[in-house]
Amino acid sequence: MIRKNLSLIMLLTIKKALSSLLLLFTLSAFAETNNVSIVIHGGAGWFTGMAQEDIDGIKEALEESANKGYEIMLEGGTSLDAVEEAIVILEDNPLFNAGRGAVYTSEFKQELDASIMDGSDLNAGAAASVTNVKNPIRLARHIMDNTKHVMFSSKGAERVAKEAGLDIVYPSYFYSKEKLERARNQQKKSKMGTVGVVALDAYGNIAAGTSTGGMTNKKPGRIGDSPIIGAGTWAENDACGVSGTGHGEYFIRLGVAKEICALMKYQNLSVEQAAQTVIDRLGNMGADGGVIALDSNGTPAMIFNTPAMARAYKNSDDSTYVEIYTDK
Ligand code: ASP
Repeated sequence: MIRKNLSLIMLLTIKKALSSLLLLFTLSAFAETNNVSIVIHGGAGWFTGMAQEDIDGIKEALEESANKGYEIMLEGGTSLDAVEEAIVILEDNPLFNAGRGAVYTSEFKQELDASIMDGSDLNAGAAASVTNVKNPIRLARHIMDNTKHVMFSSKGAERVAKEAGLDIVYPSYFYSKEKLERARNQQKKSKMGTVGVVALDAYGNIAAGTSTGGMTNKKPGRIGDSPIIGAGTWAENDACGVSGTGHGEYFIRLGVAKEICALMKYQNLSVEQAAQTVIDRLGNMGADGGVIALDSNGTPAMIFNTPAMARAYKNSDDSTYVEIYTDK
C-alpha cells in the first residue's frame, strides 16, 4: 500500500515537473516568436571618477531590472507591468538619480518626477515634484490607470499617492551625504542616473516610462522633461517607444521622445536613424543627453552624445547586453 502510494506521488511529481517544463518552453517560445524586448537606461553623462564598486553596482542593477521586465513579459505580463517593475528596481537603488537616490535641489531638498505611457491607446500618467512618494513610477501608473487626468504635481500628487495607498516615506529616506555635498558644491554636471525603460510585450504593445530626481541644484519647483509626455517619454504601438535622459529643458523644447516616433512614422526613418537625428539636433542646440527606444519589432536604439550612458537590452533568453561607456 505504502509502495503504491509512493509511486503515485512520484508519478504526480514527474507529471507536475513535466508540465511546468512544458509551460516554460511554451512561454519562452511564445515570447521569442512574439518579440518580447526591453531596453533600459540609467542616465547619460560622464561616469568618470566613480568607484569600480559603483560601476559594477550600476551594471548589476541594470541587468536585474532588464531580467525582471523580461520575465514579466515572458510569463504573459504586459509591457506596462514590465516598465513599472523594472523602474521600481532602479528607483530603490541609491546608485541612480531616481527614487531613493534622487539628487538635491538648490535648497537641499529632493523633488521627484516620473511618467509612464501605454503605446496601445496613448494613455499616460505623470507625477512631478513629489517629495515623499517612495516610487514615483507607481504613482504615474496609478494616475494613468485610475484618474481622469494625465499629470499631478507637488502636494496634489502626494495626496493622490496617499489616497491610493502607495508607499509614503519620510524625506530622510532619500538622504545621501555625498549627493548633498554635490549640491552644496554646486556641481551641476556631476550627477547622472535618471532611469527609463521601454518594453514591447508579446501582444505587440509598447510601453515607456521614465523616473528622475531631476538635475542637481535645480531650483525648487523646476520640472524637467522626464514627467512630460512627448518630451522625456513617449509610446505609440505603430511607431516606437522612447525614454530620454539629459538636459531636460532642451528635451522639452524639442519634444524629443515624440519627435523620434514622428520621424519614424512620417519619414520612414529606422529607430536608430530617428534617434540619432534628434540627438544630433539636441547636440547642435548645445545640450547633452541620450535616449533609448524600441520600434514595433523590438529593434532597439541607444543613442547619446555624452561620453557614456548606462544602458541594457534584452530580447531573448541569452545574456543581457549591459554597457555604460561608448561601444568600442
Ligand atoms: N532629464 C532629467 C531632467 O532634466 C535629468 C537627467 O536625465 O539627467 O530633469
